[in-house]
Amino acid sequence: MTALTATATAALIALAYYVECAVFPWGKCRKCQGNGKKMSPAGRHWRDCRRCKGTGRRMRVGRRVWRYLRRHAAGR
Ligand SMILES: [Zn+2]
Repeated sequence: MTALTATATAALIALAYYVECAVFPWGKCRKCQGNGKKMSPAGRHWRDCRRCKGTGRRMRVGRRVWRYLRRHAAGR
């Protein structure tokens, strides 16, 4: 594989990821599997997941990049 092909492949993957993050900005919270609730280890009761604050969703890393880029584009 030449360097050019590798670069093109990487760019293609980045572009696909970028588009995917624009369409699906939210992912399931891994801590609570998207429930938003988490079983307390000691108390045997449900409590809001700390990681997603009970929403069950998490913002994807790509979406943060997306927002960052957009903010910078708007500031120009
Ligand atoms: Zn969660």
